[in-house]
Order: sequence, then structure tokens, then C-alpha cells
Amino acid sequence: MKTSSRVNSISESVTLKLNAKAVALAESGKQIYNLTAGQLPFRPATEFVDLMRSELDFIKSYHYSPVAGFPELRKNVLENFEKTRDVKLSDSDVEFDCVISNGGKHSISNIMGCLLDPGDEVIVMTPYWVTYPEIIKFCKGVPITIETTPYEFFVPSIDKIKLAISPKTKAIIVNSPQNPTGIHYSDEWMNEFAELMKKHPHVNIISDEIYYELFYYDPRPTYFYQKHPELLKQTIIVDGISKTLASTGLRLGWTIAPKDLTSAMTRLQGQTTSGANSLVQRALMNFEFDTVPQFLEPIKKHLRENASYLRDVYRDKNLAHIWYQSTSAFYYLMDFSQTPIMDRMKEQKPDQVDYSFEICEELLEEAGVAMVPGGAFGMPNTARMSFVLERDPFREAVDRIFDFVLK
Ligand code: PLP
Repeated sequence: MKTSSRVNSISESVTLKLNAKAVALAESGKQIYNLTAGQLPFRPATEFVDLMRSELDFIKSYHYSPVAGFPELRKNVLENFEKTRDVKLSDSDVEFDCVISNGGKHSISNIMGCLLDPGDEVIVMTPYWVTYPEIIKFCKGVPITIETTPYEFFVPSIDKIKLAISPKTKAIIVNSPQNPTGIHYSDEWMNEFAELMKKHPHVNIISDEIYYELFYYDPRPTYFYQKHPELLKQTIIVDGISKTLASTGLRLGWTIAPKDLTSAMTRLQGQTTSGANSLVQRALMNFEFDTVPQFLEPIKKHLRENASYLRDVYRDKNLAHIWYQSTSAFYYLMDFSQTPIMDRMKEQKPDQVDYSFEICEELLEEAGVAMVPGGAFGMPNTARMSFVLERDPFREAVDRIFDFVLK
């Protein structure tokens, strides 16, 4: 069967490919340390689970939900947003609303489906979450990537963003805290970015805030619109419960945006997936989002401990110059470009630019550690590790990585 050129433009997920190999090796009896996880391996908050349990008794939990989501949940989400980000959406001269979707990823694909005409450009900063460019391409848009380097701690310069903006730019995606680096942009960066964006009112800013609550070092993440609320009218916020409530499988996320866009998204969602899961929405209608920081406290402590161990190993191996401090989400992007593994790779295949896939494959086969190749995030010769593994296996995995890389 001949599939469409649109779907053929989408790349296969490298994460899934390596994960399949890791699972196969584990099943064959090999000890595998899987550092590819994009989710927290903890039970969700008890209050949330109890609310879901009590909603099981109501027939409405099994029926279709309103396409944009239950109004009570949308209200709860909007109120929580205003409270946590310390903004008033009513300060903007446009009206805002919220659309509940089947996860943040679904929100982003709906946004692109409603914003992009063929040839429209969307600026994406490297390293990027793998889905962004793929969804943009699927919606006939053109991803314009902005390079960053490990030396600048993956923070894109405002000048580079300025140069990337063209009359065709429809949107720019800002993801802070960030997957795959585990950093969030500084308040100064956000302010400079805001000043730039004020000069480009035709550019919509998609702020992917799915890891907002998951910072384990102060200062907490801030956003460009907080000190510059006049930017709200060109801002689209994506968030959800996957990361902050450790509930990736429940598939619930949302978009907060000016009403023109949320109405269009509701139309699109009404003809594609309809309203999101009623049971989960009903539980969240009454959920006190104020309790999230308390739920995340022990999880953040765990992430901090693993991040500190990694820092200590970099220092002990005299590699502190290629280490950076991660502060948020649960990832670290390890740079191989100045380590002995690169010389070994170059000897085997001299003309290649990116060896991240080969490095991760050998690392898995030889050392039994699975990481996600950085090539998938647009960052050659790096790999993403996840900090969620328990302390002892995490330490063992890190030791094995360094033995392998420095061999
Ligand atoms: N945005 C980023 C940066 C992510 O890393 C993820 C998930 O990995 C998402 C959005 C979407 O999450 P979900 O669709 O599970 O809500």
C-alpha cells in the first residue's frame, strides 16, 4: 500500500528502536540499565488516585466528555496556571481559553494543525524534543532549527533567534524546562527573548511547560510573558499531567491560548479524537493542583541526588570542563565530542558527522546501559540519560558509561 508523502516525511522513533533492543537483551538474561525513560517510575499522588477511584461510580465518567474538556476542569486548569505563573490572563487584550487533549503531544499536534499553512516556518531550538520537527513536517510546515552547543550549555543566543525570524515564521517553540538537556532558561534570557518577540507580533510563541514543576534547583523556571504580559496575545501554553503527576499513560494534557486558536483546536479535535478521557478529567476537576509541589518533593530529592552523583563522577574523572549543571526535568545530555570514544569511532568510520547512534548501540551491547542517541534531538555526538532510576543501579550505570567512554 502506498502511504502518503506527509506520513513518509516522519522519522521512526530512535528511542523505541533502542528500547526494543534493550528489552530483548534483558529478556535474554543480560543485566540492562535502562536510562532511556521519559517518565517517572513512581505512583501518582494519592489524592489524585483517590479522586479517580471515587469517579468510577458515576456513569458520566464513562460517557463522552465535551470536546474541549469539562468546563470545571478548564476553569481549574486556568486558575492554577494564573496562580503558579503569577499572571492574570484578563490583563491581556484578547480572551483566553483552555482545550483539554489526550496529552501534551496531542495538544502540540492540534496546535500545529490549526496554525500552519504549507510552507509556514516554525523555529525550533536544538537540542529539541524529537516530536517537534516531525509534527511540523506532518502539518506541511518547515522546521527552522537554531543550533546551540554544549559549550554554551545549550542556551540559544537571542541574536541567532533574531536571524532565524522571517516573514514566513508562524511560530517559535520554547521548551523550558527542557527535554533532553534538563536545563531551564534563565530569567535574563526570558526577558531578552521577550524584548525580541515584542518586535515580531506575527510570531506565535508556543511555550511547552510540561516540566514546569520539575525543577530540583532554584530559581524556579520563569517565562517571557510574566514580566511582559503584552506578549500573552501571541502565546500558546502547553502543559499536562504526564510528568508532574507521574501519569504518562493516562493521556491528558492541555493548551491555554487566545480563544481564536482554542476554538479552532476544538473544531479539529471534534472531528478527530473528540473530548479526552472523561474519568481522568472528572478526577482532575476537583484536584487541588496546589498539592503537586508536595507530591514532587521526594522525587526532586531523588533527581538531585542522581544529578550530584553524575557531577562527582565528572569531577573525579577530570572531565569537569565538559560537565554542566542540570536543574530541571529528569534528563542530562552527555557530550562525547571531547572524549576517547570519539577517536575510536572516527577510526572505524572516518567520514561520519554524528556517531551518537553507534555509541549508544555499543554502549548497550558492551556495557548493558541504554541511553537515547543525541542525533535524534538534533545534537550530534551526545546521548540523553534519564535520572529516574533508583540510586544504586543509577550509580552502577554511570560508572559503566564512563568506563566505556574513557576506555
Ligand atoms: N513536551 C515535551 C518536551 C515532552 O518531553 C513530552 C513528553 O515526553 C511532552 C511534551 C508530551 O507529553 P504527553 O503527551 O505525555 O503529555
